[in-house]
Amino acid sequence: MINQTYKAMLGNKSVIRELSEFATARGKEIGYENVFDYTLGNPSVPVPQIYQDVLIRLVQEDDGSLHGYAPTLGLPTVKQQIADSLRKRFGIPYEAKHIFPTAGAGAALAHAYRAVGTPGQEIVLVAPFFSEYPAYIAPTGLTVRIVEPDFEHFQIRFDRLEEIINEKTAAILLNSPNNPTGTVYTEETLKKLADLLHRKAEEYGHHIFIISDEPYREISFDGKTVPYTASFYEDTLTCYSLSKSMSAPGDRIGYVAVNPACEDADIMGPIMGQISRGIGHNCPTGIVTRAMGELTEVTADLSVYETNMNLLYDTFRDIGFELVRPGGTFYMMPKALEDDAVAFCKKALAYDLVFVPGDGFCAPGYFRVAYCVQTEKVERSLPVLRKFCKEVYGK
Ligand code: PLP
Repeated sequence: MINQTYKAMLGNKSVIRELSEFATARGKEIGYENVFDYTLGNPSVPVPQIYQDVLIRLVQEDDGSLHGYAPTLGLPTVKQQIADSLRKRFGIPYEAKHIFPTAGAGAALAHAYRAVGTPGQEIVLVAPFFSEYPAYIAPTGLTVRIVEPDFEHFQIRFDRLEEIINEKTAAILLNSPNNPTGTVYTEETLKKLADLLHRKAEEYGHHIFIISDEPYREISFDGKTVPYTASFYEDTLTCYSLSKSMSAPGDRIGYVAVNPACEDADIMGPIMGQISRGIGHNCPTGIVTRAMGELTEVTADLSVYETNMNLLYDTFRDIGFELVRPGGTFYMMPKALEDDAVAFCKKALAYDLVFVPGDGFCAPGYFRVAYCVQTEKVERSLPVLRKFCKEVYGK
């Protein structure tokens, strides 16, 4: 008999994917340029030329090792390059042994959950959160606990977090800048979180980890840098990828960085090596791993996301939407103009505006706008958005 758990999941497909498929199908009818598809978090800017150049050079200079197996714990030179860069940028004394290359942030998270939690323990998610998290965590045997959204600022509801943490808590999963809200957790929030976790860890007599999911770290607005979670809390595993900042989600590359001050930091890499064996990960592709090592401080031109954010934010606010201004990413999460965001998004489809209801992100009544699209298209969508809100909601 096939696995019934996964069979049951077939009926629970990603709403984002379904809406995106709708947008593609509609595009075939009326031309994709006329569909205002704000569904997928697929970067809209090209990879930087230097990324292509490095990949080409790596192929040309191949001495026969490029396509070979890497060591289970990753290529030492690349681990060193990443550790050096993180040490320089964030002042944390990472060494090569603290870096574990993975096939993107998704794979980094898969290792991190398993490294710090065992079946029967709990992992805390702060809503709104990336809708894939529950499916990511389900196979680990960890139970998901959810802190409801702080709709006013999209920071953390500490009153609820305090109630939810218990002796079974293995970790809290944080994502800043955040998908779906675009919010950046402030230094104040991170300090408060560190204080609470220290207190709870002492009370329960075991370490409680932060798994910090940071694929959007470099996409920040208003010239600000995103506070680095691991600087505030020693038991932090940072999960990173080139999917968003380098615009290379198809290349599947990223890493886990283990804070050198965390519990058992020196064996965390080898532990993740064992996890890799169990989940069949066994090192990401060699060529992109090498490119990641060479280009630790390079990103695509990310400025378009701030331009798009400002255009949309100003228009949504002008129409009268409740909306927290994003500090980064290419997402924002306004409150729908009726209680049922699914109904709101369905009505928007009649105007070829494709938004994702917040229900899957644990934010019912809100909807996500992924503005990783051409600015010209964003501009054309604004009068359509105004028309929709006027005709359907009198706004
Ligand atoms: N975490 C968040 C918050 C994301 O938004 C995504 C992708 O959209 C991922 C993780 C997965 O990223 P990757 O493509 O690096 O696996």
